[in-house]
Amino acid sequence: MSDIRLVNGSANHDLWESHNKMVLEPLDKNDPEVYEIIRKEKNRQQYGLELIASENFASCAVLQALGSCLNNKYSEGYPGQRYYGGTEFVDEMERLCQKRALEVYGLDSQKWGVNVQPYSGSPANFAVYTALVEPHGRIMGLDLPDGGHLTHGFMTDKKKISATSIFFESMPYKVNPDTGYIDYDRLAENARLFHPKLIIAGVSCYSRNLDYLRMRQIADENNAILMADMAHISGLVAAGVVPSPFEHCDVVSTTTHKTLRGCRSGMIFYRKGVRSVDAKTGKETLYNLESLINQAVFPGLQGGPHNHAIAGVAVALKQALTPEFKLYQQQVVANCKALSLALEELGYHIVTGGSDNHLILVNLRNKKTDGGRAEKVLEACAIACNKNTCPGDKSALRPSGLRLGTPALTSRGFREQDFKVVANFIHRGIELTLEIHNTMSPSATLKEFKEKLSSVDVHTPKIMALKEEVEKFAGTFPIPGLPDL
Ligand SMILES: *Cc1c(COP(=O)(O)O)cnc(C)c1O
Repeated sequence: MSDIRLVNGSANHDLWESHNKMVLEPLDKNDPEVYEIIRKEKNRQQYGLELIASENFASCAVLQALGSCLNNKYSEGYPGQRYYGGTEFVDEMERLCQKRALEVYGLDSQKWGVNVQPYSGSPANFAVYTALVEPHGRIMGLDLPDGGHLTHGFMTDKKKISATSIFFESMPYKVNPDTGYIDYDRLAENARLFHPKLIIAGVSCYSRNLDYLRMRQIADENNAILMADMAHISGLVAAGVVPSPFEHCDVVSTTTHKTLRGCRSGMIFYRKGVRSVDAKTGKETLYNLESLINQAVFPGLQGGPHNHAIAGVAVALKQALTPEFKLYQQQVVANCKALSLALEELGYHIVTGGSDNHLILVNLRNKKTDGGRAEKVLEACAIACNKNTCPGDKSALRPSGLRLGTPALTSRGFREQDFKVVANFIHRGIELTLEIHNTMSPSATLKEFKEKLSSVDVHTPKIMALKEEVEKFAGTFPIPGLPDL
């Protein structure tokens, strides 16, 4: 572009006027290309069946706060101690968000504090490790193929995948391959050998409640910190439909956009106040987590807080305090049981035999296909979910499971009878997967399968027909969010 010279109010007057108009224009006029892509995505969300367990539909009010002028404000530091001026109202917002966060989880502000600045779940976890574990200090989390999260220290024989495993030493614990339940005895045994500084109780693909008490005992035996990462279940915890990690943990991290149904962000809760009192001297020892964690988030790892996201989280937390939200979470769990039962009746194997929460893991091993192929066919039929390793899988490259979650569709008003319909759609999608799979050589790769899927042949009309039925069904349900975006 050629240089545009600034001329005092004369030659470039028109361009200046045009600039002033540009910044006021709504999205559809200003950038039809981006607007159109968003419309297409909205359409996909509206006419598809969203079963990805980590996803949800943020409410209209949450998205309005997220899209607000708070986006514009810099406020490095914490309320009352900022490195910028003009922070009166963002201070008020951050304090409100903190107050609501403690209220949602029933926490006494003398005993717990919360940092609401982490940009998301992964940075929140890294901030906890940075704060509380020395470089190359030891941590133990549930292995990724067993249902843990990348940030809990994932690595393979060939590569340290997560930065957590690069900057800290991680030793995973696992589920029992026969039952699918976490093997706490093994964890206890290995912890005695490994001497971890921190143990993580948290999952991304595990359908059962965690035994926080048992993990507290294991942490205590090893003088380790117990951290819960409740990212997936924070909405369920808020509503009291699954056990709360707060009773037994020192630190609790979370995302805010999964079952909690806020905008994408993260939070870290930490214990504060008196840790213990010496029986003889009566001398009090205090927790030292607050300043370590706050300093790790800022200035350790982050810059200016995302004030618009903090506002969106505050709105979600207000909603989480309502009886309506509690009912929603009860329905999430009831729907998950209904989905699990319906699939079981259709001959599917559900890992651990069911679910205590918002997700199930379907093992397709007995169906002679795998999660990767089923995921692709279901996607072509407007059903979104993801492949996942199942306990006992030989290779992570060919996971035999599908992870299915109910939070998103429950936000659209789906109930048990609707999930029976959903189970039937999934079943038909998997039958189609088998049909296509069976026409190919047993050694065919997933890439070849995908090529086959995208080529037009006898299976194409069947996929189109199922997709049409799915879209017709899904389209009848409302979708939370901004009216047209
Ligand atoms: C989703 C998730 C995270 C990470 O959240 P992002 O917002 O994607 O960074 C961390 N821990 C667990 C257990 C999760 O499920």
